Amino acid sequence: MTQFVVVGAGLLGTSIAYRLVERGHSVTIVERDHPGAGTSGSSFAWTNSNEKSPYNYHLINALGMRAHRELENEFGARPWFHGGGAVEWRSNAHEAQELDDRVARLIGWNYAAEWISADRLHKLEPALAREASGDAKIAYFADEGWMDPGVYIEFFLGKARDLGAKLRRESVTGVELSGDKVTGVKTASGTTIGADVVVNCTGRWANDLGQDVRMTFPLAPTIGLLVVTAPAQSGVRRVVRTSAVNLRPDGAGRIMLHSEHDEQGFTLESSSDDTYPAAVAMIERASRIYPELAGARPEAMRLSHRAIPGDGVSAVGPVPEVSGYYAAVTHSGATLAPWLGQVVAAELAGDADNDALQDFRPARFFGRQIDTSASTRKAQHVSTTPDR
Ligand SMILES: Cc1cc2nc3c(=O)[nH]c(=O)nc-3n(C[C@H](O)[C@H](O)[C@H](O)COP(=O)(O)OP(=O)(O)OC[C@H]3O[C@@H](n4cnc5c(N)ncnc54)[C@H](O)[C@@H]3O)c2cc1C
Repeated sequence: MTQFVVVGAGLLGTSIAYRLVERGHSVTIVERDHPGAGTSGSSFAWTNSNEKSPYNYHLINALGMRAHRELENEFGARPWFHGGGAVEWRSNAHEAQELDDRVARLIGWNYAAEWISADRLHKLEPALAREASGDAKIAYFADEGWMDPGVYIEFFLGKARDLGAKLRRESVTGVELSGDKVTGVKTASGTTIGADVVVNCTGRWANDLGQDVRMTFPLAPTIGLLVVTAPAQSGVRRVVRTSAVNLRPDGAGRIMLHSEHDEQGFTLESSSDDTYPAAVAMIERASRIYPELAGARPEAMRLSHRAIPGDGVSAVGPVPEVSGYYAAVTHSGATLAPWLGQVVAAELAGDADNDALQDFRPARFFGRQIDTSASTRKAQHVSTTPDR
């Protein structure tokens, strides 16, 4: 039986750990904080393959969406998931053109993207102000949704532990090697946890395990600011994206808001006093389209780093010069987690390498040739509708 140490109990670590232990492997998850304490706990968590390019990056995200759907067939319920699609319109000419181009591209890729009328928009979102979208064209992406990372992580971690996975709440401070072969990890308490394979699922902190430079690759994290309101009963039903603000329900009447324009200039050290004015401004802009949001109180402002490998797309796989080390680091992890859990566990268990991941191997950062046959493949249809 192969001994795996999975470092990090976020969306990726818990997904991969469960699928490994399900296959009969011995798994120890090492998490320095509480499960979900990293980026997964501060994510907009919109499940989509909407603004993803090139095609192969779009493809893996579409596979992630399908994997989310399949979890319902597998477990009978998926209380972390909220469907209903996403609506989007753009009020400035440049962004409207980009949306036009994007919808055309997505339709060409057989993605569920369509233009809808203002009447249909108001049927989907009855609480919207009548004039909310103005003259803008309205796009609808029916298969998209959002997920609650905390609920997902608790579910998969619980399942993994039921099957025998161990959770250790310690900080990994080193990856142990014998020659070029990983033998385990060292933790802050000075303990060594032996392993045949170490799976690094620490996201934005993937280079901070005290490991040999051969197990690091460039990361380009960007700062994100999310605002959560106090319960507001605003009537927001699904993911809504506009030039002014993006928003979605966050459970129990709360709304989560995000706007790329409002996150510049903050650091992880910024205090809630620093972010409060941006939060109030976001809510004010949102209340122009959802009047019931007027005066809603920002209950939380969350700053976190997106886990983005140096060239902007996922880094999933082994590194060339060390055996027994596997990294799974990506943005879009809320979308990708259930699919990555399955394909990474299958690869680690010795199944054939997954073709769809060939463009996303960490080896590319080490000047290694990668198989590019996948990038020239014709766009293939990935059904994101339920299989049952
Ligand atoms: C603002 C924002 C919005 C986003 N919106 C979306 C979206 O709409 N859709 C989408 O799909 N994705 C989105 N993402 C991205 C998504 O949230 C991430 O890709 C995903 O959460 C990454 O999960 P992870 O498990 O890889 O990492 P993390 O959740 O960061 O987990 C890593 C874990 O490793 C632990 N750790 C770190 N170092 C050590 C160590 N030395 N020893 C032990 N444990 C350690 C941390 O405590 C943490 O719990 C967003 C991200 C941000 C920041």
